[in-house]
Amino acid sequence: MPPKTPPTIPCPTCEDLKSEYYTAVPGVLALMERGRIVGKIRRCSTCKRFKDNIAAFTSLVKYVTTTITWIEPEEKAYATLKAKETRKGRAFWPDGMIRAVNVGVPDSYLSIPAHGKIHGINAHGFVFMKGDEWYFTPDEKYAHLCQPK
Ligand SMILES: [Zn+2]
Repeated sequence: MPPKTPPTIPCPTCEDLKSEYYTAVPGVLALMERGRIVGKIRRCSTCKRFKDNIAAFTSLVKYVTTTITWIEPEEKAYATLKAKETRKGRAFWPDGMIRAVNVGVPDSYLSIPAHGKIHGINAHGFVFMKGDEWYFTPDEKYAHLCQPK
């Protein structure tokens, strides 16, 4: 299940999932392309979570070197007109394994529709973020395929 307590109000600048400067690290901005950093890394001057660009850079480096799950930025999903589940990513499944997921557009702040393959079956469900990692929860009808051990 997704976390029950909603997160604090996101920063409109650095936590805007639709922004091409969204890096997944609150307080850090960088121009992103297909999930890769292609521009200068700087701190967000709206929320000022970091004292300078160096502190922001250090935090982003720590994030990318310690997290193991990810999803592509949201504009990837809008690249096709239908905004289907076209973003690639990797997430923890309920059995603790990390598998590929195809992710769509958020239907709420907490969860994003997604699907992924397990034992040759295309399981539908949603992804959500907890801490720094992404998690996939399949719909009930697919839950038996990836029971927690
Ligand atoms: Zn911010």
